[in-house]
Amino acid sequence: MDFVFFSDAPLARLTRWVRILGYACFHCPELSIRHLVMPGGFDERSVILTRQIDLYRHVSQIDWPGQVIFIKDNDWRKQVRQIIHDLHLPRPSPEFKQCLLCGAELEPISRNAVSDRVPVFVYDTVDQFRMCPECKRIYWSGTHSRRLVRHLDELFGPDETLDS
Ligand SMILES: [Zn+2]
Repeated sequence: MDFVFFSDAPLARLTRWVRILGYACFHCPELSIRHLVMPGGFDERSVILTRQIDLYRHVSQIDWPGQVIFIKDNDWRKQVRQIIHDLHLPRPSPEFKQCLLCGAELEPISRNAVSDRVPVFVYDTVDQFRMCPECKRIYWSGTHSRRLVRHLDELFGPDETLDS
């Protein structure tokens, strides 16, 4: 399912990970019960990620269309594991679709336009680039670093579709 996540204040790092996993995630430092009574703002794809047990209990008890997950652990690795497990999330595609910082959907940008904004070896070896319309950060295929791939391998097992 195309989940849309809403995360509360202490979950900045988990927010970035939800975006790595390919989902929209709105980091809402002031996420509170107040926001949940907004009419029409949420549907069955909506998932609240919270460290606030009282918020979790409240949402569990009202007629709310989406899901709410109480994040048990302080450690971001365990947090990521928890949501992958609870929602059965699959391994993400090897390319970023949205900016990890803003969550904005990336837009194609011509190779010429990035010539002085990416490392030379990247410019020389990569054909397709995308840019965040908000913060102007540049992404390219292969943006997943080795370290990130290693984290994904730990979370999902090695990706056997990739040649090594
Ligand atoms: Zn951005």
